Amino acid sequence: MQNPFENAMEQLEKVAKLKKFNPEFISRMRAADRDIRFSIPVKMDNGTEKIFEGYRVEHNNALGPYKGGIRYHPDTEINEVKALAFWMALKCAVAGIPMGGGKGGITVDPKKLSKGELERLSRGWVQALSDVLGPHKDVPAPDVNTTPEIMDWMADEYEKITGDKTRATFTGKPVDKGGSLGRGPATGLGGFYVFDTLRKELNLPEKCTVAIQGIGNVGSNAGEIFSREGHTVVAISDSKGAIYKESGLNIEEVSEYKKKNGNLADFPGATNITNAELLELQVNVLVPAAFENVITKDNAGNVKAKIILELANGPLTPEADEILKEMNIPVIPDILANSGGVTVSYFEWDQNLKNERWTEEEVFKKLRVLLDKASLETLRISRELNTDLRRGAFVLALERINEKM
Ligand code: NAD
Repeated sequence: MQNPFENAMEQLEKVAKLKKFNPEFISRMRAADRDIRFSIPVKMDNGTEKIFEGYRVEHNNALGPYKGGIRYHPDTEINEVKALAFWMALKCAVAGIPMGGGKGGITVDPKKLSKGELERLSRGWVQALSDVLGPHKDVPAPDVNTTPEIMDWMADEYEKITGDKTRATFTGKPVDKGGSLGRGPATGLGGFYVFDTLRKELNLPEKCTVAIQGIGNVGSNAGEIFSREGHTVVAISDSKGAIYKESGLNIEEVSEYKKKNGNLADFPGATNITNAELLELQVNVLVPAAFENVITKDNAGNVKAKIILELANGPLTPEADEILKEMNIPVIPDILANSGGVTVSYFEWDQNLKNERWTEEEVFKKLRVLLDKASLETLRISRELNTDLRRGAFVLALERINEKM
């Protein structure tokens, strides 16, 4: 497994060479403001106590409070969280929202915990960090394997410890507990808006074929939205495998099937394929929406998609990026493509602080305005500098952070 933070720093180096930023600013952007590792003791259902390792990385807050999700995964470790916090700082800057970059996590397989254990673990994460969190300091959100219910436990624990009743310290909460309408589908929908704005510029047809890796929050919402908008989702996967259907999959039905059967295999009317085969399908749009480092120097040369829309964070290694550039396959980078989630998280924070409730229609309208602007600005800069969209988005973000600092 490649070190995701080293990959992120390699991306930064390339951009620093291209745009000649002040080296002191680049050094500052290489270092997180603070990274915190801590133990979370949890009383297990069988009466024993187990220690889990927790993290919070606060990368940069030039533009506003640190903002970023919390990941629960057995492979989560500090370098992953550091990379994700760095990308969050850039992502908020690209989206044009007044938030900085942070990320959190716990090394845990949540599927192996009971609901009570999961709740005590989540509350323990907040107990360890209550001093550094706050609506104007650091505002976490969900990420892989963390849900609105977990955000509600965390917001409740924070309120108990600090007395703060705004609920603005955590976003991605359930809608009836201070969450924003539209936060659920926001990342997939935002990805669709970015794709839709850039589609013509990238010479893609009006109706595209789409393959999606991952059927979690992001992948399933993206799949439903692309289908609703008239595109054909021919393949989708989970960690165990993928399915393919040339005439298009009904993603709601696939999600229901997964809920019932625990995996996607033998979905009626579809062919079982491997995750590796999904990444190499002949489609217009390939959407990695699961994990980092899935397209590497070993398989990038086999990609046959016309473009890649990165809804996961860091799905391509820097070597894969170079290979795809040589192959003239444009990549819409994560810090632009998946910024819809944090943008609606910012809307939730804003509504909590103002004690307002916006309609879903208002939320989506505001999201579209911001993401259209971010997409066109990224395209403009990448064309001006004769470079790819990732470097364009990095330059846009770094210029905004540099100016503020
Ligand atoms: P999730 O936990 O809801 O879903 C993850 C999905 O990935 C699951 O369907 C899982 O089965 C699948 N998966 C795991 N390993 C896989 C593998 N090896 N191959 C194929 N599929 C695999 O997580 P999510 O919230 O949908 O996040 C997915 C990605 O999107 C992550 O990179 C995350 O950081 C990023 N992201 C999420 C949000 C958000 O709002 N949730 C926002 C921005 C970026």
